[in-house]
Amino acid sequence: MRHFRPISVARLLTIRRSLEPRWARRVGVVAVRISAWRSARMDLAAAMRHDKGGGLLLFFPRVGLLLLAIVGVPAVAFAQTISFTFDDGLDAGQVENAAVLNGQILAALRAHAVKAMLFPIGRRVDSPQSLSLVAEWSAAGHAVGNHTYTHRNLGTAPVTAQEFTADVQRADRLLLHLPTWTKRLRFPYLKEGETAEKREQVRRWMDVEGYRPAYVSIDTSDWYYSQRFVAWRQRGETDVAAFREAYLDHLWDRALYYDQLAMEVLGRRPAHVILLHTNPINAMFLGDVLAMFRDRGWAIVSPEEAFRDAIYSARPNTTPAGESIIWALAKEAGKPGLRYPAEDGTYEEPLLDRKGF
Ligand SMILES: [Zn+2]
Repeated sequence: MRHFRPISVARLLTIRRSLEPRWARRVGVVAVRISAWRSARMDLAAAMRHDKGGGLLLFFPRVGLLLLAIVGVPAVAFAQTISFTFDDGLDAGQVENAAVLNGQILAALRAHAVKAMLFPIGRRVDSPQSLSLVAEWSAAGHAVGNHTYTHRNLGTAPVTAQEFTADVQRADRLLLHLPTWTKRLRFPYLKEGETAEKREQVRRWMDVEGYRPAYVSIDTSDWYYSQRFVAWRQRGETDVAAFREAYLDHLWDRALYYDQLAMEVLGRRPAHVILLHTNPINAMFLGDVLAMFRDRGWAIVSPEEAFRDAIYSARPNTTPAGESIIWALAKEAGKPGLRYPAEDGTYEEPLLDRKGF
């Protein structure tokens, strides 16, 4: 069920880019008000659902917020919050322009004063050149966390809890010298175990070792877009702006999907953690991505700040375990009609084909 159509706000913001600054500002204000109004309407709808039992405590503040949105108080009161995390790192021995890509991502973060978090695959960065790229993140104040050494899928039977945790420790030994090293674990493929027993074995190990999970709330197929982007450019295409639009639309769509799912399941908007990768498409467009979220009224915080949100301490009782924490909580709550979240490009392939990318 869709409560609102975000696309028209997106259109307004696209139109805005072609306008003079004076008019662009006005269109921006209108877009923010529409967005705030829709957020408030969703909040109100959720509050009413939860108030069936009587308590009107939530109801009146929501109505107040709704009235504020109508009279034009902008996004501040309704702002969504997002933080940015990047998986996998770059292998300087495999990727020719690894240092350039790394530098472009870091430059975009610096230009927008955003602190992010990197989760490198140990094996991929286990060389002096590749490790120095990771060290650049740390030197710039971005946290570095654990994504295991060999990036194995804990959701498959051959990978035992013992093997998996040994792999986590191996990455730990490689990276713990970094000044911003943080004992947070990003599960490869977001898979947390195909059985409850294995899932709990790893959770217990993490408790003992002082490791906390680095769950994501917004999962995307940025890596698939990146593959298509690279292949598209290799065919000699140069109209980068068109691809940028498609990529921004995709990330925006995924962000709204998970944000709305959170409203439906939790009745509130959590501080989001988005999963992106250190890849060519983000090297090219990260600045535009950050600008888009800010332009549309979202506040950008550091991942550590977002992780303080209680949803990242949840321990969903689902098997197979993993995926976006919002999706896992929705599944645990028995929400019907959940789209399978594997962001494996299945949904995007026909879309990009149709657009000629
Ligand atoms: Zn990964």
